[in-house]
Amino acid sequence: MTSNTKYILALDVGTTGTRAILFDRQGAMVGQAYKELTQYYPQPGWLEHDPSAIWRDTREMIGDVLVNTDTLASEIAAIGLTVQRETCLLWDKTTGQPLHKAIVWQDRRTTARCNQLRAEGKAAEIQERTGLVLDAYFSATKLGWLLDWVKENQPEVNLENVLAGTVDTWVLWQLTGRKVHATDHSNASRTMLMNLATGHWDESLLSLFGIPRYMMPEIKPSLGCFGTTNPELFGVEIPIMAVFGDQQAALFAHGCDRPGLLKCTYGTGCFLVAQTGESLTRSHNQLLSTVAWTQGQQTNYALEGAMFTSGACIQWLRDGIGLIQSAAETQALCESVPDNNGVYFVPALSGLGAPHWDMKARGSFQGITGGVKREHLVRAVLESIAYQVKEVVDAMNKDGDQPIGLLKVDGGASRNDFLMQFQADVLGIPVERPEILDATAQGAAFGAGLAAGFWTRYEDLIAQRQVDRTFTPGEGQEQAQAHFQVWLRAVERAKDWMI
Ligand code: ADP
Repeated sequence: MTSNTKYILALDVGTTGTRAILFDRQGAMVGQAYKELTQYYPQPGWLEHDPSAIWRDTREMIGDVLVNTDTLASEIAAIGLTVQRETCLLWDKTTGQPLHKAIVWQDRRTTARCNQLRAEGKAAEIQERTGLVLDAYFSATKLGWLLDWVKENQPEVNLENVLAGTVDTWVLWQLTGRKVHATDHSNASRTMLMNLATGHWDESLLSLFGIPRYMMPEIKPSLGCFGTTNPELFGVEIPIMAVFGDQQAALFAHGCDRPGLLKCTYGTGCFLVAQTGESLTRSHNQLLSTVAWTQGQQTNYALEGAMFTSGACIQWLRDGIGLIQSAAETQALCESVPDNNGVYFVPALSGLGAPHWDMKARGSFQGITGGVKREHLVRAVLESIAYQVKEVVDAMNKDGDQPIGLLKVDGGASRNDFLMQFQADVLGIPVERPEILDATAQGAAFGAGLAAGFWTRYEDLIAQRQVDRTFTPGEGQEQAQAHFQVWLRAVERAKDWMI
């Protein structure tokens, strides 16, 4: 690392969009660029992204953040990359072209395949090997679907030239000028193809899901050198020094490096992740065991409650049914009415994740009467996000010995004061929101900067993070908790909807 470097560049290639953020030596954000990503819904329950657009936006956002902040690429010490997890694709390494759009984590097209595997009695073994609940959410069945599609629809493709990857692998391959085909343990642990105990691709799972070993990327430690950028891109070779799944990056940013520490990110989905240290802890309450991050020979594990739809149902209110014009206006709309007027929403737009794992559940509004207004529907949607988190906190409490006493939050939807206050009310514990809500990008930056020697002490980086606001349970507590019980009934009615 040369001494004229001033910044760490974090790339957060998320579900909703792509963000590039520069962090200075103090760990402060000096500028960012963001672009929303087009979501393709080819059929009910399906969701795709265009991998070429993901790469184009990544490049553009890097260019934009450099221009916006008047920075030279040579002033960047290292890049930290964090991405939406599980979303996966196949591409031809000779042409560099994706063979199909990427299948997004929320996509349910492989539900039948999962049910078949369950009927064959494979669920317990898969969970034992991967720490994951058998579900269409993870990459394995998606990659299997893509491979079948290529064989059927593009028989001319030479399969020996095909590479598979999650979004980090795709972006890394492009950043390094098509040289590095790799991933990190935190992303690999979400594919349902990595053995959680060994940290290697599991041969029996590769064969169960029909994925040839040679298509898979090399799995490397999350913190460490993944390669350097192709000098043709930005004129210099910038080392890529950390790769994380988005939720694990946020966990890192919150300073959750010891058992007992946890965070909840409110993005497209909602993810409650608890650090469990170097021991692989298994849940008895439908939570996932996963890799938090790896460095050198050390693996940190986590327990996770993954809820598929949170910000996504706010996007749906905006783009799907046009009930709102911006996500931000939901706060005032919710606060303009005293309660939900008896309306409950089940956010099962992509089925239900933790703790239900019902791929056949679908979203529903229930309890509608003549007096119900737009504000009540919007409020029911926001309340449902908090109810889901309450269910997962309850599951975590059952798994752990210490009840959760404080919820640290981040992510786009956590800027909504109504939602955060309602969350504190329904949980009955304080909710702590940091000043920087882009914890995902911050975690990637922290990881890359530490691995590059740009920063030396993790503790110092964590200590300089500021709390923006702590929401404490208030007068709405009793009502929120009573309404939670009604919502649980609504969830039961939305389950097992698809034939
Ligand atoms: P991801 O990383 O999954 O793409 P982000 O953390 O960038 O997600 O958050 C984006 C999500 O946050 C979107 O779904 C959006 O609807 C939601 N969001 C953004 N601002 C608000 C707000 N003020 N109130 C509620 N939701 C919001």
